[in-house]
Amino acid sequence: MQLSKELYNHLLEKAQQHFKDTGKTFTKYEMNKWITRFKREHLEYNEIYSQALQNVSDRVSKAYKNFFRRVKGKHNGKKQKVGFPRFRKFTSSLTYPQSGFKIERKRVELSKIGRINFVNHRETEGMVKTLTVKKTKSQEWYVTIAVEKENPTRFSNEKEMVGIDLGINNYATLSDRTVKQNIKITGKQRNRMRRLQQGISRKTKGSRNRKKAIYRFSKYAEHISRLREDSLHKLSHNLVNSYSFIAYEELDVAGMVRNHRLAKAISESSWGNFTQLLQYKAESAGCVAVGVNPQNTSKTCSGCGNLQEMPLSERIFNCEKCGMSKDRDLNASINILKRATEGHSGSHAFGDNVRPPHMGAVVKERGTTSGVSR
Ligand SMILES: [Zn+2]
Repeated sequence: MQLSKELYNHLLEKAQQHFKDTGKTFTKYEMNKWITRFKREHLEYNEIYSQALQNVSDRVSKAYKNFFRRVKGKHNGKKQKVGFPRFRKFTSSLTYPQSGFKIERKRVELSKIGRINFVNHRETEGMVKTLTVKKTKSQEWYVTIAVEKENPTRFSNEKEMVGIDLGINNYATLSDRTVKQNIKITGKQRNRMRRLQQGISRKTKGSRNRKKAIYRFSKYAEHISRLREDSLHKLSHNLVNSYSFIAYEELDVAGMVRNHRLAKAISESSWGNFTQLLQYKAESAGCVAVGVNPQNTSKTCSGCGNLQEMPLSERIFNCEKCGMSKDRDLNASINILKRATEGHSGSHAFGDNVRPPHMGAVVKERGTTSGVSR
């Protein structure tokens, strides 16, 4: 891992120098020359699988491609900061493309490293594409396996369509009245987190004890976030397998987190993370997930379309025009589903403001201003 960081930074430096000297980007030929020379000077690199080295150079190339794109963007008058790609303080991951590894039931065999025991959390289905070994701050090792599925199940009409409202009281309220929860961080867990964090600040900077305290804190923080992540995986898995069409709000999480009162609750509920999971799980489950403009979904009557003020404290939507009375979140979830299918009758028609989705892809409404841009 240490080695891959060194090479990454070395190549970055070479590329930077090359750019300063010539004003141009480097070619693959030049990159390979740098690698060869570097390997000659650092014999320990012969121990690293060549494909993994190739991956390091691919990452440098990518960083530079993005850099040049930013430079070009600036010429076109876009306001953008153009900085050189940054040097890595630590590259604690190493990716093996296609070959160079073998996955067994309880072990992975990595070329030039050897066999490592590992705990397989999820069964891998489909063609294995790459394998990444990663070291976390608490010095644990993770293996991430990327797979490509050959024949995703096709979009099926058999299951229901649903709109989802994501909230704080209830994690997800569905337009069919189902309510789903995500695990919440308990007060006890939060206190422990705080204590561990205080433990760090009490130790002298640079000391061994401080390092230990940092280790204890990261370990616990990772544990908590893993619990929550697992629960989101299960929830999204469950949803894409139960419905054929899921509409959700493109939430402006960044904008909401700026609002301090809600900040903690929102970042904890990790909505952005969740909708991403929905999207990428949708395809293989034969489901379509669509993000819609979140504007006024809570303030609009799902019965007659009347727009009225709805302060956060108001838990029931009582329509001033048609008299409809519905739970606030349920009303919103119905609006979200409507928005994704608007303007057409028939169960799988899409409105003018929504492009027909690709399998499992996000479809943003045209002209959305408040959505999350990724
Ligand atoms: Zn109404």
